[in-house]
Parts: sequence; structure tokens; C-alpha cells
Amino acid sequence: MVWGPPVWAARGATALRAARLALRDRRPAAAVLAARELAFAVEQRRGFPLPARWVRVGGRAFLDPTIPGSPSPAFDRFLEGELERISPTGSGRPPLHLAILAVTRRCPLRCQHCSDWDLLGAEEALPVGEIVGIAQALSGLGVCHLELTGGEPMLRLDAVEAVARSLGPRVDVWVLTSGVGLDPRSAGRLREAGVVGTMVSLDHWDPARHDAFRGVKGTFARATEGARAAAAAGLVVALSLTATRGIHADDLARLVRLGRDLGVGFLRILEPRAVGRWAGQDVTLRPQEVDLLMRFARTTNSRASDLPIVELPALTQRTVGCFGAGDRYLFVDAEGAVHACPFCRAPAGSALGGGLPDAVARLRARGCHAFPDASPVRIGWAAAGAVAATPSAPSPTVPS
Ligand code: SF4
Repeated sequence: MVWGPPVWAARGATALRAARLALRDRRPAAAVLAARELAFAVEQRRGFPLPARWVRVGGRAFLDPTIPGSPSPAFDRFLEGELERISPTGSGRPPLHLAILAVTRRCPLRCQHCSDWDLLGAEEALPVGEIVGIAQALSGLGVCHLELTGGEPMLRLDAVEAVARSLGPRVDVWVLTSGVGLDPRSAGRLREAGVVGTMVSLDHWDPARHDAFRGVKGTFARATEGARAAAAAGLVVALSLTATRGIHADDLARLVRLGRDLGVGFLRILEPRAVGRWAGQDVTLRPQEVDLLMRFARTTNSRASDLPIVELPALTQRTVGCFGAGDRYLFVDAEGAVHACPFCRAPAGSALGGGLPDAVARLRARGCHAFPDASPVRIGWAAAGAVAATPSAPSPTVPS
């Protein structure tokens, strides 16, 4: 973790890099304006301020677990995509930024919140070659950050390795895992194949409560040992917490300190959705719990400290709108069907057989139903005025 002068230097280098990239396809005045907005208007465009510290791993700086590390070809592609939104070159719709791709439906756990619940355990629908083909098609549409999920993706390590090898440095590949199957040996294999990061689910600092949520004893130990092994292997590591009703400030403080002790760089906090195993249940956080998460993310990120940086997608969704539904990201399930995100599932088409561009167009036309203030695709200077809701707005209802 770095803060102070190294972060200022990294921001300056990013602004310069953005200006160079902008000059390739734009007149100098437009290029300078676009680079300036990219570097200095982050809060208006993404709904949250830049953290006061960045994570350094393997000579690269990471400010968010969904943005490729800098410098790298993947980071340049991210900057080009953002520039295209700020100052369109007329080359077509802005590229995708992120995709979540399921590589299996197998999983040994029984989590209370599983969004794949009805489908867990099904036979693998796609051979490794087809999964690699989908990953390459996603990269072709601009994806520079790819998250591999399941089921439990570590149960299909051959597919994870094949995807990472086929994409190379143009795409940062991350693995979203419960920690089952993540140990020093498999972490080394991930690193060797070119995987950049791993996101390990950890829903409570108390081992018994985490294991109860995940439905299998010993899961806490596997998650924490897996996170340690991944950090030791040179991967960027994040923890992922699904916040539930009754969450308390002390739980967040203990979890973020545990993350620091495990050597992780980020803490992702997700809000519960009434889908999958939770379908039909009232799991939506109450306004005071949403406020707690918002304040926790802002205060934790604004300080110079060695604590993990907090990523709270709901902060963006409530301020500038949802980036899913093909705006910046989408979800492809283990059969190749394309959805708005892992929680809002209604196939927009198949990623197989060259169908991805049509599926993305359908998603963008539909937009995001869970956060209707979001415009389907935000392009250009108008994005700066798209702040739509206050941080204390009640949690929206998500269609199941
Ligand atoms: S949430 Fe993930 S880890 Fe838990 S049962 Fe579902 S697929 Fe497995």
C-alpha cells in the first residue's frame, strides 16, 4: 500500500499517459480537455473520489479492484475506453470495460445468498475452448478487466489458466473464489498463467458466523489461508463481503483490519439481492445500513493508512447509475448466455457463435432495471451532470 508522494506521482503519470493516448485520435485542445477530465473529474464520472492510497503489486499500481494496474497494456485500454466516453472520436459505441464470466456451475459450498442456487451442480455446458473463445470475444469488445467466477472457478483451474494465457497483458484476469482450492500450489499456477488478482469471499470476521453463512465448516480457514497464499504468490488480493441486515460499524472495522493482516489490498462490499437462494425474501438493507456502508467507504478511503481500499459498487449505482447492463460491464453465465449482471438475469442472447455484439446491443437498449436513474450508456461531458441520487436514498427493489 502506498500513499502521499508515490500516489501523487502515479496520478501525474496517469494524466500524462491519458493525454498521450488522447492525442492519437483528437485535436490537441480536445485531447487536453479530455485528459484533464479523466484525471480530475473522477468523482462526477464514477460516483466516488479517488482513494488516498493505491495498492502496489509486481511493479504496478492499482487504485480499484476493477481497474487494470498501471502501467500496462490493459490500463491503456481502460484509459482509451474512458476517453472515448468523455470525448467520442466517432468510431462507434464506447467499448466495454469489465466482464464477469462463469466457467463452471460446480461448487462444494451452500451459501445463504447464492445467486446460482437453482443451477448449482449442473454438468459443465461448455468445453474449455468455447470459454476461451468467449473471453477473446469479450476482449474484442474492449474488456480490459475480466473476472472469472462460477460456481467455484478454482474447481476448473484448467479453464482459468487457458483463459488467462490466451488473453495475455491486454486484459487483467481476476478469479472470484470462496477460497476453496486456493492454496500455495494453485496460487502459483494462477500467477504462472498470468492471472493478476483474486477476490476471496469473506462475510464475517468471526469464523463461526462466516462458516454458518457459507454452509460448510472450515470455510473461513480456507478463505483466509487462500488469501494469504495468493498474496504470497504475487497476486493482487481483495476480500469480498456481502453485507447483510444488522451489519454494524464494528464488524466493518474488524474485517478491514483482518484484511490488512492477511496482506490484501481491497475490500469489496456488495449489498444483498433477492435472487437465487434469497429469491422472494426481504433482504434489502435498511437506509441506516446503506448510510453506514457509504460513510465507511468514504472515510476509510480518504485516509493515508495501510488498510485495504474499500470498493462499494452501490456508491456508484446510487450516485451516477449502474455500469452494468452492457454499459461498462455484463455477465456471461456458464452456458454462454449474456445477462445485465450476476444478480439481474434475463438472457439477452448468447456469447457463442459470434452472438456477443447483438447481445450487448440488446442489453444496452434495455438498461438497468434495478437502478433506473442510470442512463443506459453515459457518454461525453453530460456524464458530469448525471449525479442523480443522494447517498442516503433508500435501497432500490431489485426484480428477482
Ligand atoms: S455463492 Fe458462490 S461459493 Fe457460495 S454456493 Fe454459490 S457458487 Fe458456491
